[in-house]
Amino acid sequence: MTQFVPAQSYYAASANPAPERPALEGLHETDVCIVGGGYTGLSTALFLAEAGFNVIVLEAMTVGFGASGRNGGQIVNSYSRDLDSIEKQTSAPHLKHLAEMAFEGAQIIRQRVKAYDIQCDLKDGGVFAAITAKQLKHLESQQQLWRRFGYDQLELLDTQQIKEVVNTDRYVGGALDHTGGHIHPLNLALGEAAAFEQLGGKIFEHSIVTSFNQGETAEVLTAKGIVKAKFVVIAGNAYLGNLLPQLAAKSMPCGTQVIATEPLDEALAQSLIPKDHCIEDCNYLLDYFRLSGDKRMLYGGGVIYGARDPADIENIIRPKMLKTFPQLANVKIEYTWTGNFLLTLSRLPQMGRIGHNIYYSQGCSGHGVTFTHVAGKALAMAIQGQAERFDAFASLPHYPFPGGRSFRIPFTAMGAAYYTLRDKLGI
Ligand SMILES: Cc1cc2nc3c(=O)[nH]c(=O)nc-3n(C[C@H](O)[C@H](O)[C@H](O)COP(=O)(O)OP(=O)(O)OC[C@H]3O[C@@H](n4cnc5c(N)ncnc54)[C@H](O)[C@@H]3O)c2cc1C
Repeated sequence: MTQFVPAQSYYAASANPAPERPALEGLHETDVCIVGGGYTGLSTALFLAEAGFNVIVLEAMTVGFGASGRNGGQIVNSYSRDLDSIEKQTSAPHLKHLAEMAFEGAQIIRQRVKAYDIQCDLKDGGVFAAITAKQLKHLESQQQLWRRFGYDQLELLDTQQIKEVVNTDRYVGGALDHTGGHIHPLNLALGEAAAFEQLGGKIFEHSIVTSFNQGETAEVLTAKGIVKAKFVVIAGNAYLGNLLPQLAAKSMPCGTQVIATEPLDEALAQSLIPKDHCIEDCNYLLDYFRLSGDKRMLYGGGVIYGARDPADIENIIRPKMLKTFPQLANVKIEYTWTGNFLLTLSRLPQMGRIGHNIYYSQGCSGHGVTFTHVAGKALAMAIQGQAERFDAFASLPHYPFPGGRSFRIPFTAMGAAYYTLRDKLGI
């Protein structure tokens, strides 16, 4: 299957040791079977294992193989469309839960890192950087919006203040989110997997789920095994392919690319991002960057539909990095990689149920590090019979992509081109 191509990433090269896990063989019975060993699957699995459930995770490749092991590592609060947009699309009781969860993902990650002693280079502070006056105005309204929902950790930065956290002339200002931050994403996934296994959870790797049989007890099938489970959670996100055509029809995998430089001299690293925060700009197709634990510049950006080879990635992303930091002109790029996230038409996540016992969560459209962690909690609570949070997510509309699978790419690329032009013109 074409989506299962491993990444030669900096994260893979600096991953903490992990056990070899077997592929599924034979018949297994469990309370919950989870398809996908990224944050959505692992977060759900860990919440359920903590609550005493028997859980099996089936991962097509290895833990963190997908976006969870390749991403920018940025802990970003709220959703890809913010609470003002959500407010227009759901009821007041659902909005209350969605607003609570908008700022909870970062807490869940920090609690887990602490409780399970996960070594993932966790650092505090996330910066939204404004390139235009319009974007800065938007950040002011974002601060007011988040305050209206009880969150007061977003601090506005003027032109001088942003230079103190990111040393470039590109930005007119920004906002510092004090509970944002960054992590080594693959090591977070590996740490969550290890925590789940400590609690008795089972993970089978190299176990591609090929089909399901629905029923009172669902059956999940791989090439050599079957899991019978009271509940199933589909957490394959952008790597699920066409396993469930009804989920594929309302979402679109998109590639985004990252480069990692060689480790920087300590003084240079410190001069570029003095407080070691992570940064994303406010463009529709945004740049995101930060320093790694060993002081490399990790720089990601853009959205490209379809696969790219590594030489292409350097040609695309390095100029973006040099536009922000000309100081890095002579620095070598040591790693380049690509990963897929899942876009939805509304850019809001999709959570739902097929029949009475097959749950799914997908499509956070970019800001998934925090969302997947609250999604795991909502799914685990729903399986335990407390469905308020799940119902709140499920109340958000799911739209099919116009043009179906054949035309969704050109239509979405046209949309992205329109927003990119608006960003360039500052309108
Ligand atoms: C390059 C990149 C940079 C990003 N940067 C950020 C960022 O800085 N901050 C942020 O908040 N978000 C970021 N994102 C988004 C974020 O990483 C994702 O939203 C999040 O990791 C999704 O987690 P997931 O568990 O739902 O999916 P994934 O991590 O993709 O996991 C899905 C798993 O399911 C498995 N799977 C699929 N099909 C099957 C099957 N049939 N059988 C068994 N297993 C299967 C896959 O192998 C995969 O391991 C980024 C994404 C990318 C690609």
